[in-house]
Amino acid sequence: MNRLAHIIWHRLTGLMPGELDANEVLWLISPHQQSPLLARRRAMVVVNRVRLFAFLFAVLTPLWSIVDYVVFPFPLWFFLAGMRLVAAGAFAALVICYKPSGNLLNAYRAMALLFAIPTVFYVVSHQVLTSFDLTGMSAAIGAGYAFLPFVLLAGLAIFPLTFLENLAFIAPMLLSQVLAQILSWGQLNWPSFAGAFWLMALIAGVANLAGMSQLAFMVALVRQAIRDPLTGVHSRRSAEEILELYGSVANRAETPLSVAFIDLDNFKSINDRYGHDEGDRALRRASKAINESLRSGDILTRWGGEEFLLIMPNTRLPDAQAALERLTGQGLGRRPDGTLLTASVGIAERIHDKASQWEQLIEIADRRMYLAKQSGRNRIVVHDLAADAPQD
Ligand code: GH3
Ligand code: MG
Ligand code: MG
Repeated sequence: MNRLAHIIWHRLTGLMPGELDANEVLWLISPHQQSPLLARRRAMVVVNRVRLFAFLFAVLTPLWSIVDYVVFPFPLWFFLAGMRLVAAGAFAALVICYKPSGNLLNAYRAMALLFAIPTVFYVVSHQVLTSFDLTGMSAAIGAGYAFLPFVLLAGLAIFPLTFLENLAFIAPMLLSQVLAQILSWGQLNWPSFAGAFWLMALIAGVANLAGMSQLAFMVALVRQAIRDPLTGVHSRRSAEEILELYGSVANRAETPLSVAFIDLDNFKSINDRYGHDEGDRALRRASKAINESLRSGDILTRWGGEEFLLIMPNTRLPDAQAALERLTGQGLGRRPDGTLLTASVGIAERIHDKASQWEQLIEIADRRMYLAKQSGRNRIVVHDLAADAPQD
C-alpha cells in the first residue's frame, strides 16, 4: 500500500514542470514553510502584476465610456462615466502607492485592492443598470456588465499563487454571488443562476491550476538561481540576500541570529592525492552531512570552494555552538582514504557580538574560523581567543 502510494506520488511529481521534489510540491499547496527567497520573489512578481493590471485598467476603464455614451440613454451613460472615473482614479492610486517590497502580506493586500475596485464597480453598476429598461443594443452591452465577476476569476490565473491562496481569493467572490442572489430572492431565476455559478466555479478551478503551474515554474527557476550546482545548497549570492533579509528581521525584532563559518580541513590534499573529481564527491558528502543535521529555518550556503556558511535565525550563541558540536562530532562525511573529514568552525551571533550589519557578523565568524585553523584545526571557536582543545 505504502509502495503504491509512493509510486503514484513519484509519477505525479514527475509530471510537474521542472521536476519538483516532494517539499517543493507542498509549496504549491500552501505558502507555509516556503523558502524565504521564493516568498520574496513571488511577492515582487505579484505586486508588479497588480501594478501592470491596475495601469491597464486605469487607462481602459474610462475609455469604455465612449461605448456607454453611444449605446445608453442620457442619465445612464453619465452615471457610468462618473463611476468609471472614480474606478480609474482608484486603479491609478494603486499603481502609484504600491511598490514591490518583497513582503507577501503586502502583495496579498495589493491583490485584494485590485480585485475590490472592479467588484465595487460591478455591484454599483448592476444597481444602476437594473433601474433602467434597456432594449436592443443597449441591453446587449448592459448584459456585458454581468460578465465582470467571470473576468475577475479568470484574472487570478496571472498570479503565481498556491492552491490555498487562490482559494482565499476565490471563496469570497463565489460567496458574494450566492449572497447577491439570495438578497434578490424575489426575482431569482434558479436555473440560470445555477448555470452561471457552475461556470464561475469551473473558471475558478482552471485559474487556480494556472496559478499553481506558474508557481511551479517559479519554484524551479528560483531553485536554479539560488542553488550551487555542485552541492545543491544555497549559493553565495543567495546567502547574501538571505542574510540581508534575516539580518533586518533580527534587528527589528531584536532576536538572535547566528552564523557559522565552516572551512574543511586540509581539503587540498584530497584533490592532490585523489584528483578533483574525488574532491567534488567529498564536497557533496560534506554538504549532505551538514544538511542532514539542520533544523528547519537553518540555511546552509556554499560561501566559496570548500567553505560553507550556516545561517541560523533565532539561535543564541550557546545553542549554535551545541548544534555545530553535534555536527562536527560525527565528521563531515569521509575522505577517500576512509578517515573522517573534519572542519574548522568560527561562530558569531548578532546580539552577543554586537554586530548590527550582517557583513560584520561574517567577518567575526571568518576571523574565528582562522583562529580555529591556527590553533590546530578540527575545532569550533566562539570567542576571539584561540581554542586550545580539539573537538572529538
Ligand atoms: P585548510 O585546512 O588550511 O583549510 O587547508 P585546505 O587545503 O582546505 O585549504 P586551502 O584554502 O589551501 O585549499 C582549499 C582547496 O579546496 C583548494 C582547492 O583545490 C579546493 N577546492 C575549492 N573548490 C573546490 C571544488 O569545487 N572542487 C574541488 N574538488 N576542490 C575544490
Ligand atoms: Mg578555505
Ligand atoms: Mg580548508
